[in-house]
Amino acid sequence: MARFAIGVDLGGTNLRVAAIAYDGRLLEKLTLGTEVGRGRDAVIDEMCGAIAGLQLKLGAGLDGIGIGVPGIIDMDRGMLRESPNLPGWDDYPVHTEIERRLGAPVILENDANAAALGETWLGAARGFDHMCMITLGTGVGGGIVLDGKIWHGMNGMAGELGHVTVDADGPRCNCGNQGCLEQYASATAVMRMAREKIGESEALKALASTPRLTARTVYELAKSGDRAAHAIFERVGWALGIGIGSMVNALNLPMYVIGGGVASSWDLFAPAMFEQLQARSFVYDATKPGETTGAGKVTLVTRAQLGSDAGLYGAARLGFGKAEALQPSI
Ligand SMILES: [Zn+2]
Repeated sequence: MARFAIGVDLGGTNLRVAAIAYDGRLLEKLTLGTEVGRGRDAVIDEMCGAIAGLQLKLGAGLDGIGIGVPGIIDMDRGMLRESPNLPGWDDYPVHTEIERRLGAPVILENDANAAALGETWLGAARGFDHMCMITLGTGVGGGIVLDGKIWHGMNGMAGELGHVTVDADGPRCNCGNQGCLEQYASATAVMRMAREKIGESEALKALASTPRLTARTVYELAKSGDRAAHAIFERVGWALGIGIGSMVNALNLPMYVIGGGVASSWDLFAPAMFEQLQARSFVYDATKPGETTGAGKVTLVTRAQLGSDAGLYGAARLGFGKAEALQPSI
């Protein structure tokens, strides 16, 4: 009986489910038609149906189920505390309901934290006990892994790296602060900056007035040589360098991984990011690759490797973890 766990990603517009073997092999991956927007009961019904189908197909070796969700998790009660993208899920006992239906342990986790754990298990931070991940998507998510475990903080709210301040007087953020990293390094921010710069480039102006305006099309315009579009990604790098520099100074971790859709613009934002990192973090400057730091310990800042599957892998890892935690230690 081969051990496997189920990872679920509720973070996007669709529900995704994967069965992962104990050694990290992907056994099955399903993208379910259910739109998360159709509501809690429809999503839970289809999720449980799909997982039951995988149990039938793969046998009785299911260790546990990890579910990555956008929002803040009440770790003590296994409920969503606050999730603007999942109306109706707050204070609903998701984990006990699914455990009851499927007879396997279920653990809920913030999706960015799950992605950090996935990259630690099987991606860019494989082999590292400590890391920090920043996910550049519609917003900017973060996760911190210490000693191989997600660092939750006092009540599950740690790792909100998208809301560290990089510019005290910057644009207002949904969180209430001004000048958060998310206001410069998310896909939403790239699109906002594109609209702000239409006076500087006819091509950007033409793009910004169409539905084709995305972080990706702004990137393509920058790659084609548009100066104003290029400057947007320099701004992304500037903000990331400031934000990550503060984390390096505070935590002195060996590995910082940048993932999410906007991370595919790495070639355009990385030079400005590393310039800021060096200028603003003396800890980074003293430990950057190439420095003699003692015992070969350096600070690495690199791209994620698992793409949009990081959260699925991390959630599955949590499924194994919970099963292990439930078993008495020998
Ligand atoms: Zn914010």
